Amino acid sequence: MSSIEACLHCEKKPGTHTYGLCSSCVQMPTVRHLYEPRAYHTEEFLAKLRRLRARAKAGEPLFPPEDRAYPLPHPGRRIA
Ligand SMILES: [Zn+2]
Repeated sequence: MSSIEACLHCEKKPGTHTYGLCSSCVQMPTVRHLYEPRAYHTEEFLAKLRRLRARAKAGEPLFPPEDRAYPLPHPGRRIA
């Protein structure tokens, strides 16, 4: 297994450029914008994204009921 991780966006080439992107993806401003660090990109938030990514790859439900911080409102009930 290679120590260089795949591009975060396309996962086809090595992510050796800025923000973990490959040489093709880093040239696209809109893609680069998506991966620019933001104030809300805390370690906790990034860990959550990694968990969601792993679940998506495994074909598992992204938001199983036990992971919901708040119960979903009753269908048809409006929140004022
Ligand atoms: Zn890429």
